[in-house]
Amino acid sequence: MVAAAPRGAASEARDRMQIIDCSCCGSALALPEGLQEGGAFACSRCGMALRNVAAARDFRWEAQDHSLRKHGATRGNLWGGLVGSLMWLVVLAVLMLLRGRFALGLFVAIAAPYLLLLAGLRVSRPRRPAVL
Ligand SMILES: [Zn+2]
Repeated sequence: MVAAAPRGAASEARDRMQIIDCSCCGSALALPEGLQEGGAFACSRCGMALRNVAAARDFRWEAQDHSLRKHGATRGNLWGGLVGSLMWLVVLAVLMLLRGRFALGLFVAIAAPYLLLLAGLRVSRPRRPAVL
């Protein structure tokens, strides 16, 4: 039988802190004992604003889908959203063709800024917290 080593004040303070996972980036956050129920705090890594409520305390980052952890959306939601957000370009091209006034230069001039915006959002997504 091994006797437990005497515990220091820092170890006891650490035990009193509750560890929760950030719902945006998955960082482990230590909540101080004095934080009241419903109290607001922010993730030090991504800036996500959270509240000390049961849903936040019960959330576990590792229990989430791999695609959700990596991209911020499930695979179906990610691809559905991407395809859905590009449908207006297909509709525009079809309407231009039906009217017999399809102009490639005009279509590219309309589509290119939107596609660049999507690419920019994809690049900056990992640094941006989710919006509640
Ligand atoms: Zn975070």
